[in-house]
Amino acid sequence: MRLKSGGRSGHLARIFHNPELPSLTDYYEPFTYRYGDLTTAAAGDDQPTARPVSLITGKSITIEGGPNWDDDLSGSHLYARNDPGIEQLTETERAQVLAIERIVFFHLPRICNHCLNAACVAACPSGAIYKRGEDGIVLINQDKCRGWRMCVSACPYKKTYYNWTSGKSEKCILCYPRQEVGEAPACFHSCVGRIRYLGVLLYDADQIEAAAGKPADQLAAAQRDLLLDPHDPVVRRQAHQDGVTEQVIEAARQSPVFRFVKEWSLALPLHPEFRTVPMLFYVPPLLPVLAMAEQGKQRPQATFFTSLENTRLPLRYLAHLFAGGNEREVEAVYQKLLAVRLQRRHLEVGDISPRDVQQATENAGLTAEQLDEIYRITALADMKERIHVPPMLREQTVEALRDPHQHRQEMGFGYRRPPKRRW
Ligand code: SF4
Ligand code: SF4
Repeated sequence: MRLKSGGRSGHLARIFHNPELPSLTDYYEPFTYRYGDLTTAAAGDDQPTARPVSLITGKSITIEGGPNWDDDLSGSHLYARNDPGIEQLTETERAQVLAIERIVFFHLPRICNHCLNAACVAACPSGAIYKRGEDGIVLINQDKCRGWRMCVSACPYKKTYYNWTSGKSEKCILCYPRQEVGEAPACFHSCVGRIRYLGVLLYDADQIEAAAGKPADQLAAAQRDLLLDPHDPVVRRQAHQDGVTEQVIEAARQSPVFRFVKEWSLALPLHPEFRTVPMLFYVPPLLPVLAMAEQGKQRPQATFFTSLENTRLPLRYLAHLFAGGNEREVEAVYQKLLAVRLQRRHLEVGDISPRDVQQATENAGLTAEQLDEIYRITALADMKERIHVPPMLREQTVEALRDPHQHRQEMGFGYRRPPKRRW
């Protein structure tokens, strides 16, 4: 596969001029407030105010949007209108997306996806970006980075940034120093909604190219197929032979991410059509129950919990975000989330009939036990269960990566040199 922006030689040819770099208008003009005015303004009848000023020019500006606004308010009208995802919507659906009050709580936290087919790695002329063998974290070697910024334009998620002070590119490091001492990444640890889960996924590297090359609407499923079941003895045996430590395999068995992505097919990758095979997954949001209850409307039980026709954002829009346009993928997730809601309502309040719950469970293709487990992990799980990383055993792991086959022999495991891999 080739990068849309061309191969490494193409990047080298235009190393001093990259017309694809995002500009200030893509990132917003950074601003601050003249806070000093609050305490130094001359005495007067009016309350002093801190006026916004541009961090570029130092002059007063009128703020129309900004990164925090767009993250916290889920998109200003100004920028939402440029969203390519709304082009394909009907007028009504577009109005639904742009109605900021309705989508105000639709946060989409976006950190680096630590992709399997990382565009930033492929684009770097200095070879400074690499995917760490022991845990798959994508990092920029700050000693090798020469600040060419090809990674900034190549990453379709725009997750690498240029640091004008150090002259190097930087990105999310999945807090690897914290993980190496058994701590959760900082943003996972501090997430007040406790919505972030972290765990090991085993995958078949030989299949990445084929999976990334599927038609857009099959990509979410292809990415799921890439993931291997750590409970399968054949997978475990092969992982052992390939030098994966027992601790990592055990962590894969305990991984909450495996359950969300593979076992329950509840979490989907963001924009799989970028074909970088991102390793972060999202559970599409349902309409909040409380908003419906507060309106005091009498609704049939099933629609009280929202319905597929009345989702917070149009299915088509969510399919564009999470499934390469495949609405069936998002619909299947919604069937499961609805089934969990109905089952809980039946158990906690009792105004949903067992027949409706059974019907919803069948529609979702899950068992009652699985619905219980989804509820438990989503609502009740503690930090240990939500974030499950193996102990790093860094020295052993680095040795294993240097020559996995020799490492296996030295460690005394049953050993057979596997056939040479294409990847
Ligand atoms: S999200 Fe962007 S920066 Fe992160 S690994 Fe993927 S291509 Fe690289
Ligand atoms: S806190 Fe850590 S994991 Fe979260 S975005 Fe920052 S570097 Fe990445």
